[in-house]
Amino acid sequence: MSDTTRKNVLVFRELPPDQLARLQAQHKVTVANPRVPEQAARFRDALATTEGMIGSSYAIDEGLLAGAPQLRVISSVSVGVDNYALPALAKRGIMLCHTPGVLTETTADTIFSLIMASSRRLVELANLVRDGHWQRNIGEDLFGWDVHGKTLGILGFGRIGQALARRAALGFGMPVLYHNRHPIDAAKELPELMGKITHTPMEELLQRADIVAVVLPLSDETRGLMGPREFGLMKPGAIFVNGARGAIVQEEALLQALNHGPLRAAGLDVFATEPLPLNSPLRTHPKVTALPHIGSATFETRHAMAVLATTNLLQALAGERPLAMFDLSVV
Ligand code: NAP
Repeated sequence: MSDTTRKNVLVFRELPPDQLARLQAQHKVTVANPRVPEQAARFRDALATTEGMIGSSYAIDEGLLAGAPQLRVISSVSVGVDNYALPALAKRGIMLCHTPGVLTETTADTIFSLIMASSRRLVELANLVRDGHWQRNIGEDLFGWDVHGKTLGILGFGRIGQALARRAALGFGMPVLYHNRHPIDAAKELPELMGKITHTPMEELLQRADIVAVVLPLSDETRGLMGPREFGLMKPGAIFVNGARGAIVQEEALLQALNHGPLRAAGLDVFATEPLPLNSPLRTHPKVTALPHIGSATFETRHAMAVLATTNLLQALAGERPLAMFDLSVV
């Protein structure tokens, strides 16, 4: 590749070596993770000339974009795009790519694990064995709650919500209520779930579901969506699971619902502040199963995400239409 076609690329979160090599073969690559103090200055310097960026889990805001006048494309190694100032990208004509699809099944597995762990108290009971407290058969005080047959309410019925519904309805005989803005034509789009899923207004879903799982994108519309009123609508003894983004939930309201309200338990993969601060009451709450944002964190899926994000970036820099471009015309 000639020097004139080699573009300046900034990798702002570590990529697997094989994908980094693909980029280095075609472009001038700077690796600088702004969250690592020793790399922050290199990141800021590289912005001035960068034409393409690839990474995740870092807020790319308007101020940062102002320092990157040559930027043409950002390739996010994530499906969620809430870290990016979308209107500013649209205004500047900067393309945004992401990684839908390749993480769907893995993330649905994680969310279903949280449903199982919260209902059957798996972490608490495994710790009881580990800590040497299994001295006699457990009694009612440690019994769990069946998952099969329970009604599952899913907020956000896109790729991951539907994958979760398949697990629940087909594997565990769970009636599924779902909420999104555009109901699915099940006969056409999800024939295997015909008669097993029901589009339901959010308020009614919260009132009827035994288990509520959030799989919504974080947006201006969904930020803080689950607050005191919404938790107050949930059934006594219900379970709440968040596998999407922490800021969709008002954490103080969640704590109230766990301490004084209807909730039996909560399973959380995501939090308003990550990593979860050590002083957060959610970290050690006896009714909470907390995970460190591992929705897509398997060897296979994280690698597939890196491959798709790298391909997106290479295609965009070559002037081709990337495999997975986020539609900025809707923001
Ligand atoms: P998706 O296919 O775009 O699905 C999003 C769903 O949410 C759609 O059904 C959409 O339907 C609905 N929706 C959007 N805004 C809404 C609103 N205001 N009210 C009601 N429904 C709304 O996305 P996905 O691939 O399933 O991923 C969903 C989210 O999961 C991502 O954005 C990401 O934040 C999160 N995620 C988390 C992890 C993790 O590690 N924990 C991993 C992957 C993804 P309508 O447009 O019809 O409303």
